Amino acid sequence: MKAARLQTPRRPVKKPSNNRPKDPVGVYCRVRPLTAGDEACCLEVISNTTIQLHPPDWIKVNRNGEFKEMQYSFKEVFGVYTTQKELFNVVAQPLVEDLIHGKNGLLFTYGVTGSGKTHTMTGSPGDGGLLPRCLDMIFCSIGPFQAKRYVFKPDDKNAMEVQNEVDALLERQKRDCQPTATPKAMSSRQRMDPEFADMITVPEHCKAEGVDEDSVYSLFVSYVEIYNNYLYDLLEEVPQDPIKPKAPQSKNLREDSNHNMYVSGCTEVEVKSTEEAFEVFWKGQKKRRIANTTLNRESSRSHSVFIIKLAQAPLDADGDNVLQAKDQTTVSQLSLVDLAGSERTTRTRAEGSRLREAGNINQSLMTLRTCIEVLRENQMYGTNKMVPYRDSKLTHLFKNYFDGEGKVRMIVCVNPKADDYEETLLVMRFAEMTQEVEVARPIDRPICGFTPGRRYRNQAFKEELTRKLELRGGPVDGDPTFTELFLRSFAPLPSVELTDASDEHTLPRLIECLEQRQRARHLATEEVKKSVNALRGMLQDWDSNFSVKENYIQDQTEKLHEKDRIINGQKSEADRLEKKIRTLEYKIEILQKTANIYEDDKRTLQHELDERDQKLHREVSDKRRLEQRMQGVVTDTKMKWEKECERRVQAKQLEMQNKLWVKDEKLKQLKAIVAETRTERPEKPERMPRARDAKVHVRSASPPAVPNAPPVRLRHRRSRSAGGERWVDHKPVGNVEIDTVLQPHIPNAITVAVPNEKALAKCDKYILTHQELASDGEIQTKLIKGEVFKTRGGGQCVQFTDVEKLKQESPVGPRKRRSSPSAQPREDTTESEWTDVETRCSVAVEMKAGSNFGPGYQHHAQPKRRKP
Ligand code: ADP
Ligand code: MG
Repeated sequence: MKAARLQTPRRPVKKPSNNRPKDPVGVYCRVRPLTAGDEACCLEVISNTTIQLHPPDWIKVNRNGEFKEMQYSFKEVFGVYTTQKELFNVVAQPLVEDLIHGKNGLLFTYGVTGSGKTHTMTGSPGDGGLLPRCLDMIFCSIGPFQAKRYVFKPDDKNAMEVQNEVDALLERQKRDCQPTATPKAMSSRQRMDPEFADMITVPEHCKAEGVDEDSVYSLFVSYVEIYNNYLYDLLEEVPQDPIKPKAPQSKNLREDSNHNMYVSGCTEVEVKSTEEAFEVFWKGQKKRRIANTTLNRESSRSHSVFIIKLAQAPLDADGDNVLQAKDQTTVSQLSLVDLAGSERTTRTRAEGSRLREAGNINQSLMTLRTCIEVLRENQMYGTNKMVPYRDSKLTHLFKNYFDGEGKVRMIVCVNPKADDYEETLLVMRFAEMTQEVEVARPIDRPICGFTPGRRYRNQAFKEELTRKLELRGGPVDGDPTFTELFLRSFAPLPSVELTDASDEHTLPRLIECLEQRQRARHLATEEVKKSVNALRGMLQDWDSNFSVKENYIQDQTEKLHEKDRIINGQKSEADRLEKKIRTLEYKIEILQKTANIYEDDKRTLQHELDERDQKLHREVSDKRRLEQRMQGVVTDTKMKWEKECERRVQAKQLEMQNKLWVKDEKLKQLKAIVAETRTERPEKPERMPRARDAKVHVRSASPPAVPNAPPVRLRHRRSRSAGGERWVDHKPVGNVEIDTVLQPHIPNAITVAVPNEKALAKCDKYILTHQELASDGEIQTKLIKGEVFKTRGGGQCVQFTDVEKLKQESPVGPRKRRSSPSAQPREDTTESEWTDVETRCSVAVEMKAGSNFGPGYQHHAQPKRRKP
C-alpha cells in the first residue's frame, strides 16, 4: 500500500460537531437454521432482542465449568424462520430511504464462515437477499425520475458532473458505437441470466416515501473485493489472455474533497433497472469466483464491497431540464459489505501460502475490532486516541462512515451449531462492543430554491399544449389568432379604387377608417397593457404571499425536523439506558448468586471450625485429666516405694543391730562365766559376779549404753495398786487419723509422740500405734504392745509382748493382685516383718535416765521409721 501518497497535506477535517445528534451502530442478529448433520445446538433465541449461548458439554469439561450461560442483546434478533423480506424491511429499508434522501449508509454482515452472511446479503437461488431487494426498492422509488443515461458523469475524484441532455445524447450515441460498451439497458427479463433471475424477482415491491419529484436521479454501482489487504475492482474490463492469465491489478484508496474515502480508478457503472444492476453484480461475482479458482484463493477469506451510488440534481425552474450546477448535485452512497469469515486461522486449517492470507484477513478484521474499540473508548470517556483506520484497507474504506456521518448497521450472522460455540462467543463480544459506538446522524439535504411541483406542472402544461395542438389539428393551420379575431371585429375597409384623378372622397374615407383602426388598436394596446400590469401585480402579490408561506412552511419543517431529531436522540438514549439497565440487572443477579454461594461456604466453614474447636477443647481437657491422673499415680507409687525402701533399710539395720547385740551379750556372758570360774578358785578371790547375781548388784556408775543383760521377767513390775495399769500411748506425729469405728481406747494413758524416759518411768505398759502402707495399698495399723521394766542401770526398758493388726479394706472388695513375680517376695517381706516384730518383741530397750538421745537410737525394737 502506498501510504505515502495518502499523506499529502490535509485540510482541516470536517468533524461532526459534538452537539450533532448521534445514533449507535444498529447491530442485528440473524440465526440460521441448523443443517441436517448438526444436532448439537449452543444458542437459543429467548426474545426478539436477546439470545442466550449455552456452552456445550465439552467446553464445560475442558474448562472446569468456568463457561457460563451468557445472554446477548441486540437491536433485534431474527430467528431461523425470519424471511429475507422481514429482514430487509427492518434492517435495509431505512438505509435505502436515507440513500434516496441523499444520506450515506453502510450495511455489513459479520460472522464465521457458513453462518449465512452471503445468504443474507446476496441471497440464495429463489430467495434474494438484501442486495437485490435494495436495488429493487431504489428503482421502484426513482423509476419515473431517472435521468437520461450520461446526464450524470462520474469524474475521477468521486464527484459527479452534470451535462445537458443534448450532450448526454451525443455521448450515448458515441458509446453505443464502441464495441466494449457498458451493458445496454435490458428491455425484458428474457435476456436475464437464469442463474439469478429468480433472485431479483421480488413479489412485493417497496417504495421510499418522500422522493423529491423535482429532481432527476441516476444510480451507479461498483463492486470491489478486498483480499489479502489489496483492493480489486471486480467490474474492471481488462482483456484477459486465456493462456497466461494476468493477476488483477490492485487499486488504491483516496480521499475526496468531502473527506470521503473512495477507490481510485474504480469502475462505476450507471444502471437503469434492478435487472441491469444485478447483472453487473453477478458479473463481478463470477469474476471473483474465477479469480478465486485460478489464483487458488479461498473465497471465504475475502471481503466483498458492493457500492450503490445515487446521484441526484434538481430540475431547473421550468421543471424541464436538469440544473447544471455542481453545488446542487447530491451524491449519496450505500455500501453493502459481505465480510470474510471471522474465524481464527487455526480453524480453517490454512497452510503454506494460505496461512499468510488468512493472517491478513484476520488482521483486517482485527483492525476493525481495534478501531471499534478505540472509537468506543473515545466516545465513552472523551479521550482523543487515534483510531487506526489506516492499518487496513477495510477500515480505511469505512472511515468516512465512522468519522463522518451516516447510518451504520451490522447483521451478526450466527450458526447455532455447538462446534462454532467458541467462535460465536468472540462474534458476540465484538457485537456487544460495536453497539456502543455512535455515528453522527446525517443531516438533511438543503432544499433548493425552486418551487416544488414544477416537474408535474411542466408535464401538465406540456400535456395540455399537446392536447390543444391535437384539438386544433396542429399549430400551423389552426384557429385564427387573437390578432386575427381583433382585426375581424373592425368594419371592413372602404373601397380604395380611385375612379378619377380628382376623386376626393375615397382617400379621405380610407384615411379616416385607418385612423379609426389606429385609435382602436391604440385603445386595445392600452387595455392589454393595463390587463398585463394588473395580472403582473396580482402575480407578484401571489408570489410574495407564496414565498412568505413557503418560508413559513420551511421554518416549520425545520423546527419539525429539529424536534424529530431531539425525539430520536432521546429515544436512542432511552434505548441505550434500558439496555444498560438490563445488563446491570443481569450482572447484579450474577453477583447476588455468587454472594449467596460464598455466604453458604462461609457458614459451612464456620460450622466446621466450631466443631473442630470443640473437639480440640475436649482433647485438651482429656489430656489434662490424664496428666493429673498419671501424676497422682506417679506420686503414689513414688511414696509407696520410698516408704518400702526405708522400711526395709530400717528392718535390716535393726536386725543387724540385734544380731550384734546378741553376740555382744553372749560375749559378755562368756566373760562372766570365765570370771565366775576364777572366783570359785581360792587363789582367785577376786571374781567377776555371775550374770544371774548381777540382778542384786548395783551396776557400776557408768553403765553401758546398751543393756548388758537380757531383759527378764525377774525384774519387778511396777506396783499396780495405784489404780491398775498405766499406759504410755506412743502415737508418732506422722500417723494418719483414721476413721475406723473400732479404735483402741486406753484409759489413763500418757499419750506421747516421742517416748521419753519420764513418761516410761510413770507407766508399766507401752503401746505403739504404727501405721504403714500394706501391699494392697491400704493403710495397715499395728498396735505393738509391751511391758515397761526398770533396768539395772536405772533406765527403762520395754519388752514387746503383743502385736495387734488393724487393717482397712475397700468395700468394693479385695483388689485383685496381679500375679507378678514380685508377689512372692512381698509375702516374704511380710513374713520377715513378722520376724522383725518378733525380734523386736524379744528385745528390750534400755533408756538411760537423763539421756538426750531419742528413742530412734536406743529403742531397738522401734517398729516405726525414725523421725527427725
Ligand atoms: P457465509 O457466507 O457466512 O460463509 P453462507 O451464506 O454461504 O455463509 O451460508 C452457508 C449455507 O447456509 C448456504 O448454503 C446457505 O444457503 C445456508 N444458509 C445460510 N443462512 C441461511 C438461512 N437463514 N436460511 C437457510 N439457509 C441458510
Ligand atoms: Mg460467504
